[in-house]
Amino acid sequence: MGIHANLIAGEWKVSAESSDNMNPSDLGDIVGEYASGDASSVTDAVAAAAAAAPDWAATTPQARFDVLDAIGTEILNRKAELGELLAREEGKTLPEGIGEVGRAGMVFKFFAGEALRIAGEKIDSIRPGIEVEITREPLGVVGVITPWNFPIAIPAWKIAPALAYGNAVVFKPAALVPGCAWELADILARAGLPRGVFNLIMGRGSIVGEAMLENRGIAGISFTGSVDTGAHVAARCAARLAKVQLEMGGKNPLIILDDADLPTAVNCAVQGAFYSTGQRCTASSRLIVTEGIHDRFVDAIIERMKALRVGDALEADTDIGPVVDQSQMEKDLEYLEVGVKEGARLATGGKRLKRDKDGFYLEPALFTDTAPNMRINRDEIFGPVASVIRAGNYEEALSIANDTPFGLSGGICTTSLKHASHYRKNAQVGMVMVNLPTAGVDYHVPFGGRKGSSYGSREQGRYAVEFYTTVKTSYVAP
Ligand code: NAD
Repeated sequence: MGIHANLIAGEWKVSAESSDNMNPSDLGDIVGEYASGDASSVTDAVAAAAAAAPDWAATTPQARFDVLDAIGTEILNRKAELGELLAREEGKTLPEGIGEVGRAGMVFKFFAGEALRIAGEKIDSIRPGIEVEITREPLGVVGVITPWNFPIAIPAWKIAPALAYGNAVVFKPAALVPGCAWELADILARAGLPRGVFNLIMGRGSIVGEAMLENRGIAGISFTGSVDTGAHVAARCAARLAKVQLEMGGKNPLIILDDADLPTAVNCAVQGAFYSTGQRCTASSRLIVTEGIHDRFVDAIIERMKALRVGDALEADTDIGPVVDQSQMEKDLEYLEVGVKEGARLATGGKRLKRDKDGFYLEPALFTDTAPNMRINRDEIFGPVASVIRAGNYEEALSIANDTPFGLSGGICTTSLKHASHYRKNAQVGMVMVNLPTAGVDYHVPFGGRKGSSYGSREQGRYAVEFYTTVKTSYVAP
């Protein structure tokens, strides 16, 4: 198979450099070879996007609906095949991979509809005879920079609204997962978009990403990734007064109260903390458990964790796939050591596992007897590692839950309406879950957080319009 090229101005262009896309379940399996762009590819892509943007902005909502709807249809029709590619390159299990692809397809369908619903406002002027109208216009060229852990859903939920509201796009996926990004670009390239409206530049953040931050032709950057990179992206965008939207990390609490239904609490914790190998920004990494249920909960979750099958993402009986790569594996193992050194008890898991194929297999790990100020409870680990923090009562649990630099998702397991309602109002997060895992969200409503987790306007649902458009107020005298 040849090199998968970048898409610039409607042409597939190979670069001087390329890189192998490795399967984390089987290090001997190379998914494919993908172009690695450079600064000049970004210059060309931005120029093509800038040239194409005005005509795309002037298309009818019906034309944009048709293209986005067709993209959504093809993604949904190829759910099984693309889900397999996703599981192979990222390490999510096959059902999770197929589920993510389905979500990406529905995101395109949703934003196809949104193209038809771009509305303005008409309001009486305070001056006689004058008409005031408020309308939304696209930004122009939007830069999309995405992480590796949702290789198709996150690109979809940025690219679809960008196009629906009439922008042109330059898309840089994470270097670890170019496979889904390339397939998505191929679908977009065949969907009837004018040349240059959508461009794909695969490659490294330090080269392609940096070139995008610098390029004044890009009016706004929508970024998802780590806090450190996000802060850098924001600073660079601010320096040239570009619009910016950041979705970043989490250290999401799941509070389990004495009156919780134990099986529900265990399901929420296991699903939220360990599925997708814990590599979700919304993962439940802090399980804050009140006295009366603590020991029963710990026993029950350990029993469930021992039954989880860690293995090849593509095998039917796998519950938890591999860690994404060597450097994430090292980070997870390092935090497992840090936890023990800090005095936490490693109650189960945490060993690197051997399977038939050489891969990054890690046993899901649970720390108990942890304190809220330990590093394992402050830093985002981004692996299959969770901590139990004991709390005396609901009030203490709430205060621990909110005591974090992050604020993405927060959950509570309780049968008390009083505590559920109080938590919904007082959780310092963007998304609250009651008797549900902290991860797992709908595609048609806003997604995002507070504090160090998000910056700028919300993504997804109708709220996406805020980032991808700019508002114009017109005054007309007769
Ligand atoms: P990362 O910050 O390393 O990289 C994210 C993207 O930024 C990649 O495409 C990368 O190539 C690019 N990049 C790196 N350096 C850059 C630079 N100097 N200039 C421009 N671009 C640059 O993050 P990651 O390791 O790919 O993803 C994991 C992180 O993403 C975790 O922190 C996770 O919590 C976060 N995440 C957040 C959400 C959310 O919506 N809140 C969703 C998924 C993942």
